Parts: sequence; structure tokens; C-alpha cells
Amino acid sequence: MLEHDVIIVGGGLAGSRAAVEIARTDPSLNIAVIAKTHPIRSHSVAAQGGIAATLNNVDPEDTWEAHAFDTVKGSDYLADQDAVEILAKEAPDVIIDLEHMGVLFSRLPDGRIAQRAFGGHTHRRTCYAADKTGHAILHELVNNLRRYGVHIYDEWYVMRLILEEGEAKGVVMYNILDGTIQVARAKAVMFATGGYGRAFNTTSNDFASTGDGLAMSALAGIPLQDMEFVQFHPTGLYPVGVLISEAVRGEGAYLINSEGDRFMKNYAPGKMELAPRDITSRAITLEIRAGRGINRDGTAGGPFVYLDLRHMGREKIMSRIPFCWEEAHRLVGVDAVVEPMPVRPTVHYSMGGIPTNTDGRVLASADSLVDGLFAAGEAACVSVHGANRLGSNSLLECVVYGKRTGAAIAQFVQNRKLPNVNESHYLQEAKNQVQELLDKSGDCRIGQLRQEFQDAMTLHCGVFRTEDVMQEGLNQLQICRERYQNIYLDDRGKLWNTEVIEALELRNIMIVGEMILTSALNRRESRGAHSREDYTTRDDQNFLKHTLAYYSQAGIDLAYRPVAITMFEPQERKY
Ligand SMILES: Cc1cc2nc3c(=O)[nH]c(=O)nc-3n(C[C@H](O)[C@H](O)[C@H](O)COP(=O)(O)OP(=O)(O)OC[C@H]3O[C@@H](n4cnc5c(N)ncnc54)[C@H](O)[C@@H]3O)c2cc1C
Repeated sequence: MLEHDVIIVGGGLAGSRAAVEIARTDPSLNIAVIAKTHPIRSHSVAAQGGIAATLNNVDPEDTWEAHAFDTVKGSDYLADQDAVEILAKEAPDVIIDLEHMGVLFSRLPDGRIAQRAFGGHTHRRTCYAADKTGHAILHELVNNLRRYGVHIYDEWYVMRLILEEGEAKGVVMYNILDGTIQVARAKAVMFATGGYGRAFNTTSNDFASTGDGLAMSALAGIPLQDMEFVQFHPTGLYPVGVLISEAVRGEGAYLINSEGDRFMKNYAPGKMELAPRDITSRAITLEIRAGRGINRDGTAGGPFVYLDLRHMGREKIMSRIPFCWEEAHRLVGVDAVVEPMPVRPTVHYSMGGIPTNTDGRVLASADSLVDGLFAAGEAACVSVHGANRLGSNSLLECVVYGKRTGAAIAQFVQNRKLPNVNESHYLQEAKNQVQELLDKSGDCRIGQLRQEFQDAMTLHCGVFRTEDVMQEGLNQLQICRERYQNIYLDDRGKLWNTEVIEALELRNIMIVGEMILTSALNRRESRGAHSREDYTTRDDQNFLKHTLAYYSQAGIDLAYRPVAITMFEPQERKY
């Protein structure tokens, strides 16, 4: 059996930052990072627009309180304000620390870190490295993992969390290279497994964003919090769905309908294109529904709107957002210097996740903790984003809460013994699970079932929702679950069998999908990204609370827990 003091599942920004903090706090600890991709291929590497912090390099009057208020207002008052306070207050220090590690931020002429405007933020506080911010930060963090001697298991797929009697003891993992299965035990386990964008058919997320950490937690009996809040990013490139960063609008681009109108004036006159994402995604969806979308031949009534950069000029486009220009050019043949880009909302971010306290410790229920289990980053829900995340607050959350969770883990494992784990039991169980998949002889290909599931989620749990539509979504999911019994794998070998991984991932996103739909059905109000056409207003009286969804084979149970309101009383949210 493998043994480490600490096991971190996930090598993205949250997992890497936590590992660095543990190593800095106690260099004697034996730390492992396990990732199904290589760590520098984690989705964090694709983050474009930037990371928020009140450095005051561009707007001297900005304050952490203003950052906290924008975040809480953006969250439609569902964020826990104690967690937001920590996020905003600690932001400048974590950025300076990243700079000291060597992260190559874009600069002002005087050499200080440059900052740009971002949706829902009242000041220019988003630090960036052109439109490749995640790339710049993650590479430096992963370099540091090597420097601190962190043991990296790359391209190992974690299949199961070992949790017995309220205590996390380790994980079971599968080596994608050769199919070897190993049990690993540790004094503390952390999940930093990222989001679940692949539960939908159009997403900005990478192929690995399949909500594995969420599903493994749910299967172990841990509740998932606020799963109904799925962020649709307004500007996914049509038809592929990849992201065109909000930084493009931060730098001045317009959203235009088929009539050539900057339609955001009808939805958020005070903020225009820089309204928060939930509002902008709804605006685009309504324009398309009203027949003011655009077709590929330029006629009205089509499935997308235009993101127009032409007035910005070649030099600004190429220096501030070169990657977005390149994406549109490479993927849909649009030269954004002379033509507008076709865009529409795309699934982007998971506001909900594994509930934690502000030290990253995972909640077992509304008022109890799991022993030895931690989570941070997109997989976690601490909750700083509530019902809607502001752009450039997620990278920040990964770094602030990755660091805090790392510090808490380093303390937690002191004087703690390795837990007892029945290795052969878990090995046998995992081997049986894989063998069962290899032996399946149904008539349904994994790719086909995944597509059917993703289509069902997209159709039945989109930007706008109603009871009937979501109920039908749950029926469709039930059909998908039954069809899963009937899958088959073409590849029955051991070496690099990606089909085994796809089958395990599909089971996971289907669990996540059911949690999303069930939580969404039961929130009978509209708040942030959860927009119901049958309950069109926010209902603080009944729903100013977090959802906790508990999974079991028999069905999903829901409970609720209060929101921490420490600074700002809920108000009507207007932009
Ligand atoms: C295109 C794009 C652009 C973005 N731009 C911005 C931005 O400009 N600013 C901002 O604040 N946010 C942005 N975001 C959001 C932000 O990048 C993510 O929320 C954040 O990077 C998530 O980091 P993470 O560490 O939580 O997870 P990830 O970076 O997703 O890493 C997850 C890790 O878990 C591992 N893993 C998952 N499952 C398993 C398993 N079963 N076994 C082993 N390993 C596993 C993966 O291999 C990976 O290493 C963007 C997101 C996207 C998709």
C-alpha cells in the first residue's frame, strides 16, 4: 500500500497552491499530488482573463471592502460573507507572493502589475498575464512542486475515496498507463478536482472536467452544496463553445444583435457589456429567442450574437487578448480585427460543490465535519460565489483557499498516525469494478450515451428553467442510467485504456447531473445563475439558504443550511 502524510487529488491551481503551502509550513511532510492529467494540463492552465485583487495599481481608491461588496452582490447575496471577507482581504498578499515565485504578470509602464476591468467589479482590479493568466500561474506553481519535492502521480485516475466512520483514510487509484490499481493511505486527503462542465454538451471546460471529486464525495455520503448554480459564460465561441474571455469585453468589445444594436443597454444600462455573467447570458438568450440572433450568412433569427472588437484596433487586440483572437481565427476562421466573432452562452463554472469551512475542512452535514478530508478550488463550495461568480474571482479563490487549506492540513497532520486501511478489500473491489466494465457486452457505446446525457442536461437545465422541463430532465437521466448498464467497451486491454476512464467519468457526471437537477427543481425562486420562468423573483424569505444534497441509490435527499451574513444586508440586485 502506498503511504503519504498528505494526499492531494488534483494538480490545478488549488491543489498545487495547497501542496506548496504544506511544504513551506512543514518541509518534513511527505506530500503526494495525484492527477489524471499531467498537473500543468489541469483546466486552470486555460484560464485567460485574470485574477482579482485590490492592489490599487490602476484605481487607487479601490478597497477590499468594495471587492467584497461586488462579490456578495454578484453572488445574489448567497455567498457566505465571512468567506468573502477572507478572499478579498488576503487577495493582494497572495498575488505578491505569486509574483515573488516568478509569475510573469503583464505590467504597467512603471513596472507594477497591470490591472483591467472585469464584469461586476466596480474597479479595475483584475491582474493578468495577457489572456493566458492561468498558464502563467500554474506553470510557476508546478515548478515549485518539483522544487519542494512533492511526489507527483500524473495520469493516475482516483476511483474512490476511502471514508470509514466519518474519517477520510485514503484513495484507490488506477494507473492510466498500464491499468495497475493501488490503494494509498494518508493522514489527510484533499480534493481539488475542479468542475463538471462536461455534464453539458457545450462548455468552455476541458475534457477532464467531469466532476469526479464531487461524485466520489457524494458516493461516500458527503453532501454537495448549491449544485443548482451552474454558470453559463456569455461568450462561448459559436459553434464550438470554447471560451472568449470576459477580458475581451473588459478591454472594450461590444455585444451586438442582428439589428446592430448594443442590446445590453436594455438589460444593464449602468454596466453594459460588463454586467455580471448571469445577467449577460440571459440577455443573449432572450435576444436569440426574440429573433434578434444572427445566422452564419449574417441574416437575422439565428443562434448567436456578435462580439465586436473592430473599434479596438489591431495593436490593442494583439497585445492584450492575442489568444482570443487566435482561437477565433483558428477554430472558426474569423479575423476579429476586421470581423465580429459569433458567440453564445456556454457552460463554464460550478458555483456549488463539496461544502467546506474557511479552513478547507469538508462538512459532513450542516453542523459537522468529516475527519481528515479537505477541499478547495472549483470542486469546493466555501461559498464565496453564492449563486453567481464574478470573473477573476475563481483563480483568486484557488490561490487564497488553496493556501489556507494547505496551512490547515499541515497543522492537522501533526502528531496524527496513518489510519488502518484494509488494502486487499479495496483492491479487490476496484479490480472487480474495472473487470465488470471490461466484461460488459451491451450495445451502447460510451460516447453515444455521454452525448445523450449531455444533450439532456443542456436541454433540461439551461439558462432558463421550469419545473416541467427539469422534471423531464430527471426522467431522461433515469433512462441514461438504465442504458449505462448496457454499455460496452471496444478496448479490453490494460495499456492506456482511456475507455475505462471514460466509463468511470460518465458514471460520475451522471451522478453530478442528477444532483444539479434535483437541487434546481427544489429551489423555487430565481437567484443568480438559477433562473426559473415559473418563479421569476428572488425569495429571501424561503430561499436565502444553501442547498445540501445527499446522494443515495434510492434517491437524493435535500437539506438546507443558513447563509453567513456578516457585512451586507441583502438588497435588490440592479446594475
Ligand atoms: C477556459 C477557461 C477560462 C477561465 N478563465 C478564468 C479567469 O480568467 N479567471 C478566473 O478567475 N477563473 C477563470 N476560469 C475558472 C478557473 O480557471 C477554474 O475555476 C480554476 O482554474 C479551477 O482550478 P482547480 O484547481 O479547482 O481545478 P482544475 O484546474 O480543473 O484541476 C483539476 C485537477 O484535478 C485532477 N482530477 C480531476 N479528477 C481526478 C481524478 N478522478 N483522479 C485524479 N485527478 C483528478 C485533474 O487532473 C486536475 O489536475 C476559467 C475557466 C475556463 C474553463
